[in-house]
Amino acid sequence: MLMAPYFLCSLTLFNIRITTKVNCQCYKYEIYIKHMTKQIVLKNRPKGIPVQGNFETRIIEIPELTKGMVRLKVHTFSVDPYMRGRMSEAKSYVAPFALGEPIMGGGVAQVIESNADEFKTGDFVLGMLPWQEEMVVNTIGLQVVDENLAPLSYYLGILGMPGLTAYFGLLDIGKPQKGETVVVSGAAGAVGIVVGQIAKIHGCRVVGIAGDQAKIDYLINELGFDVAINYKSETNIAGAIAAACPDGVDVYFDNVGGEISDGVISQINKGARIIICGQISLYNATAQPVGPRIQPTILKRSALMQGFIVSNYASRFPEGFKALAEWVGRGQLKYTNTTYHGFEKLPEAFIALFEGKNLGKLVVEVN
Ligand code: NDP
Repeated sequence: MLMAPYFLCSLTLFNIRITTKVNCQCYKYEIYIKHMTKQIVLKNRPKGIPVQGNFETRIIEIPELTKGMVRLKVHTFSVDPYMRGRMSEAKSYVAPFALGEPIMGGGVAQVIESNADEFKTGDFVLGMLPWQEEMVVNTIGLQVVDENLAPLSYYLGILGMPGLTAYFGLLDIGKPQKGETVVVSGAAGAVGIVVGQIAKIHGCRVVGIAGDQAKIDYLINELGFDVAINYKSETNIAGAIAAACPDGVDVYFDNVGGEISDGVISQINKGARIIICGQISLYNATAQPVGPRIQPTILKRSALMQGFIVSNYASRFPEGFKALAEWVGRGQLKYTNTTYHGFEKLPEAFIALFEGKNLGKLVVEVN
């Protein structure tokens, strides 16, 4: 038995903490081996564009593996614009992140130890995971993915949530017809590049809007968009859309909202379909901007405007996955990622979404 007084010293080496209790009289040692890992929590809520100070990295102990649980080591995390909404307290379709708790996001991880029948060591799984390098979690919502079918990051992009968003939003709500003009904003991002290419597959004329010349070149030269407009150098979006769409706009896939969308909606045709997928230009707004009233335009052009959340289509995900995988397999859908390397880069990568630093899907490779 240890007798007081004693000194307690603690040392973290890789994932092992050695705690040594030194008894003054007879120097006894106790060694506890614990699994430790890094975790990134929401420290405080962003005001405007998120900054590094909104996040905090901690070293935490990982609990023991119990029945029905798996130990995971993360391979790649996805950072997504919708996560900005969860960082505020405002009511939405998902609960806000709690302060001091880890950020949760899409990730692909490898099972390194399993106490659950359906998962074996070595499997790669996709799920909503806490921002940690390693973790012990229950298996609810985890899905095994095949690294031989596609690169693992594709399950976070074209074969995952963004690809499915493009597929169902465009085809189910937009219903593009051959020869129609489809405009997509946020065109060079994870969702946008898929929307434009699916519209091309359906025989449409495709116009993309993005914020950087390299993105414009990529959309036209690599993905076959008919026209791409740089909204940062173009001062008159409505005029640029009118010039790019001589027959008007039949389908508008809206990823950004704000003034860009005001400009596009002013150019819609009779019977146009407007898909409200995202409003990234407003996610960091500290006051609600007032734009033009678009209802008269919607009414006069007998247009449809519909918002959606990709999870509305959960029961049809297998259909979307199959179609996307076939197009990718046939080389009809191209895809690209912007990859940050290292767990610590997660906040920087997330912030980069609002600075337009990504072409295609933004991911963070952890291991
Ligand atoms: P992206 O990969 O497109 O990344 C975000 C991009 O948005 C940036 O690269 C930047 O490109 C652009 N952007 C950033 N700030 C602004 C701004 N103020 N005005 C205009 N463009 C801006 O993200 P995703 O493809 O993952 O998501 C696209 C949209 O779809 C988001 O709004 C997202 O919230 C939404 N979404 C909705 C889903 C749903 O279920 N409804 C599911 C998934 C995504 P640029 O250089 O062109 O400015």
